[in-house]
Amino acid sequence: MLNQELKELAIQLNLNNLRDNLDDYLSNAEQSNVSYCEFLKNVFKMEIEEREAKKYKMRLKKASLPYHKDFSDFDFNFQKSISKKKINILCEMQWIDRLFKLIFLGPPGIGKTRIMVSLGVEALKKGYDVFFVSMTDLIDILKYRKDSYKYNLLYKRILNAQVLLLDEIGYLPISKEEANLFFQLISKLDEKVAMVITSNKTFSEWTEFLGDPALATAVLDRLSFRCEIFNLTGNSYRLEKREHLFNE
Ligand code: ADP
Ligand code: MG
Repeated sequence: MLNQELKELAIQLNLNNLRDNLDDYLSNAEQSNVSYCEFLKNVFKMEIEEREAKKYKMRLKKASLPYHKDFSDFDFNFQKSISKKKINILCEMQWIDRLFKLIFLGPPGIGKTRIMVSLGVEALKKGYDVFFVSMTDLIDILKYRKDSYKYNLLYKRILNAQVLLLDEIGYLPISKEEANLFFQLISKLDEKVAMVITSNKTFSEWTEFLGDPALATAVLDRLSFRCEIFNLTGNSYRLEKREHLFNE
């Protein structure tokens, strides 16, 4: 009876964790003989933990990451061109508050996207809003946002993100009109959003990719202010670690 009343009070106070676990918490407390103070503290702690977990799940969903991996199983022996120490410093996330752009350049398969995604996961864990998009999808979003509810929603997520993860600049050629839309977005986000960018092209090749030298200079000018460039080298992880069906 009293339990039911307590549950109703928990509902009124939006204490969902307490509402769902009240009976367990009470019987555990009785068995373990904890003090009133300790009991109340644990109830509040569990409530907060559940809320944080829910918020994390929401942010993770909105981030549109291609997969969910942190640095715990990242092989630093394989990727030697970035040290564990630097990654640890990046995981402190000061670059986000300082609106830095981290640019990872290098050939395919060496872990650019993986590092970007893992930085995104670490940023989500620290409470930042993250959004991942490939360059190809970004161009579609910019082109069709006015005609499509879905693309408009994604466009808003880009504008509202604190960290934009932009993958694969330069893999596919883009038209002049698309390059212009891209420049407009970069200008709009300039000084407002921290970014991580990956590309298999060097900066000098970006001019060719963006089609117009003046436009490329303007894009690079904006991106290179407060930016850290990581030139990754090495072999493709995919090729080296590929699995075989036959052992011979
Ligand atoms: P890139 O974006 O440079 O083409 P990816 O980040 O997609 O390469 O890496 C290719 C695959 O290899 C992915 O599955 C990624 O998780 C894995 N990978 C790459 N580098 C590492 C690493 N140092 N440790 C663990 N996995 C890695
Ligand atoms: Mg990649």
